[in-house]
Amino acid sequence: MTGPRYTRLVADLPATVPFVGPEELERKRGAPFRARLGANESGFGPSPFAIAAMQDEAAEVWKYADASHEELKAALAEEIGATPDNILIGEGIDGLLGYTVRLLVAQGDAVVTSDGAYPTFNYHVVGFGGDLHKVPYAHDREDLRALIARAHETCAKIVYLANPDNPMGTCLKGSEIEAALDTLPEGCTLLLDEAYAEFAPADAVPNIAWDDPRVIRFRTFSKGYGMAGARVGYVIAAPEIIKSYDKIRNHFGMNRMAVAGALAAQQDKDWLHQVIALVEQSKAEIARIAADNGLTTLPSATNFVAVDCGADGVFARRVLEALAGLGVFVRMPFVAPQNRCIRISAGTPDDMAVLADALPKALQAARQETSAD
Ligand SMILES: *Cc1c(COP(=O)(O)O)cnc(C)c1O
Repeated sequence: MTGPRYTRLVADLPATVPFVGPEELERKRGAPFRARLGANESGFGPSPFAIAAMQDEAAEVWKYADASHEELKAALAEEIGATPDNILIGEGIDGLLGYTVRLLVAQGDAVVTSDGAYPTFNYHVVGFGGDLHKVPYAHDREDLRALIARAHETCAKIVYLANPDNPMGTCLKGSEIEAALDTLPEGCTLLLDEAYAEFAPADAVPNIAWDDPRVIRFRTFSKGYGMAGARVGYVIAAPEIIKSYDKIRNHFGMNRMAVAGALAAQQDKDWLHQVIALVEQSKAEIARIAADNGLTTLPSATNFVAVDCGADGVFARRVLEALAGLGVFVRMPFVAPQNRCIRISAGTPDDMAVLADALPKALQAARQETSAD
């Protein structure tokens, strides 16, 4: 008896998951978390109009969604001053990154990203057999100049940049990105992941013509709009690029309840602005709690805060594990020296109260463990 004949690529891939999810961690610890502050979800939830739209659409769920998502594309296009031909709706940025890598990367093609940047992008590149080249952060920011230099050295097809960045929460100025485009190698595409665009200062969002063929931009309803579980994201790019996605995307991959929810959410800017204000308050609260415990925080252009635990990655990992033991789910960067930090998502006042209670205990536990080494 034989099993399926995997492709050589898949047969050789190590078993890997980009992120271990909080539910998996809850099953392991045998109890739910008291504060879910590790995945940059919005504890403030989606707009009530989005919830109602999804509920209303539930009875229509026997129908497939409109495969070209004309209504949502038209609304988004109007919002940003583009045309619907500039927009592709897909299964969150994560799904869209997979399509993008499939579009551009064959086995052995070079791709450049920052060492310690968003791992799901790397996951897709590895899954399509691309060669990842990693450039270190500089001063806790992605180093666009070095990324582009590496792209020249490696004849890369893609430079991936998240702006604002995850996991550090820092951002580049939009004008830096605009200027850098002229230095991209010929035939190299900038993938600009703007998952946190709603939280970023206005000058962090570059002003690039939507038809510029050198850039593919990614946005999502997961963060500011509080709809991570609905899986709705979109690409903004030149119409010719959008058409290319139509050759390989899953045309009926979107859940029509989610698409209806996204449309309602997109139209409720009051809710979005309230959430942004609440996130700002929560980030200030995280900074205050950190400071009360003698820790510093990095300035954040996102819905999370990188808290510098003041030592190395081993120590930060101990703080993270002690927090998890106390029911607080957070994550941390993977690579030194960024892994001196833990990454805490903004949350509700209740979440912040749990954090304020747990952080001093977690630090004490981590310090005891460290002095016992
Ligand atoms: C959260 C996040 C995503 C995931 O977005 P989805 O639309 O939920 O898939 C992508 N990129 C970055 C940088 C993120 O932080």
